[in-house]
Order: sequence, then C-alpha cells, then structure tokens
Amino acid sequence: MKLDILVFAAHPDDAELGCSGTIASHIANVHKVGVVDFTKGEMGTRVTPELRLKEADTSSKILKLSARENLGFQDIYFQNDEVHQLKLIEMIRKYKPEIVLANAISDRHPDHGKGSNLASTACFMSGLRKIETSLEGEQQEAWRPKFVYHYIQNNYLEPDFVVDITPFWQTKIDSILAYQSQFYDPKSDEPISFISDPEFLPFIEARAREFGHKILVKYGEGFTVERMVGTNNLFDLK
Ligand SMILES: [Zn+2]
Repeated sequence: MKLDILVFAAHPDDAELGCSGTIASHIANVHKVGVVDFTKGEMGTRVTPELRLKEADTSSKILKLSARENLGFQDIYFQNDEVHQLKLIEMIRKYKPEIVLANAISDRHPDHGKGSNLASTACFMSGLRKIETSLEGEQQEAWRPKFVYHYIQNNYLEPDFVVDITPFWQTKIDSILAYQSQFYDPKSDEPISFISDPEFLPFIEARAREFGHKILVKYGEGFTVERMVGTNNLFDLK
C-alpha cells in the first residue's frame, strides 16, 4: 500500500504528542498516512509493552491511520547502524511516501535525536539502488521521499514552518489520551513520571498555542526542515 506521509517515531506516543494534529489534518484532506514506531517504549516508567501496543492501536483508530507498525527495536539502546537502517529502508520502500515526518532533531530524551538521525539516514539510503532489501521474499525498489520534516517534541526548537491544526485540536488530545497509562490519573498508585504530571497536558496546549500564535491561528504544530522549502504561489503561504 502506498502512503502519502509516513511518520517515524522512536516511541509509541511520540507521533501523537509531536504531530497528530498535522496527521489528522492531512487524513481529512484524503491523504493516506501511516506511523512506524521504532520501539514499544518498554523503558517507560508506567507501562508494559503489551499495554503500549494496545494504546497505540486505539490512537491509530482515532486518527484513522492507514497503517501502523512497530519495529520492536530496543528502547534506549537502538542505534543508527546498518541493522536498524535496513529495517527503516524496508518500511520506506514498502510504503513509498512523498513526505516523512520524523522525531525532533534534538530533545530531552536521547532516543528522539537518535531516532531523528536514523530516519534521515535511512530516507537518503533508501534511494540508493545498490542497497538491496526484500520484503516477504520480494526484492524492493529504491525509493527516496521528497521531504523529511522533523516535528518538535519536549524541548523548544524554533520551527521553520507551522501547520494550523486548530480544527483538529480535539482529535490530537483524544489521540494523546488513548495512552491512558501514561497520563495523570488521581486513582493510580503507579509512580509519577515526566508526562503523568498533571501539568503536562497544559504544557502541550501552551506549546500548540505558542506555535499557533506565530501564524495567527489558535493551535499549531511546528516543524524543522532539512532543506529550504519553497512555493510557486505566495497565496499558498499563510
Ligand atoms: Zn519519545
């Protein structure tokens, strides 16, 4: 199945927190979008891998994703090396996206910057014919996505552009709350983690409002680019 946009994410919930408004907006515009998570986030404070996968599945239905896969890489310990690059190349050649969205180029969690580098490297390598991969016994064709954009995660980074997600704000929140085990629950006796702090969701809203404010809308998601973007119609810019 060909996708228009493929989202790479180090952990299940990275895509939701970083760019689910953009995902929902493009799906509403009849683009096909899928997510490939690298790990099951098994090092997370309050979760089992099975529960995380179930939560990711719930969120995928809320967002109406065309595909979601988990590569089962080791949380924290995966590397930008040949073994991991080839797995990503298989996914890029399987889904043939025009656009790849990847983790923040640097962040509080070291897997995010590492996942960002891995995705960028694999997107380039996937276009090299001499790198051979196969899926289910079939040789795959080389494919290089036209654009790689990086969503912004915990640490503030100055975006190169902002997507207006105002009509999809509630969908974003619903997709995030699908990860029930991760968020604040006054009845839970699990240890408080970084994102289960009750102040975390207001922070997510503040970030979306900050980015939205920069383009004169209510809510936005910011991205950084690998090369300058352009247009042939100034009216396409907001
Ligand atoms: Zn993460």
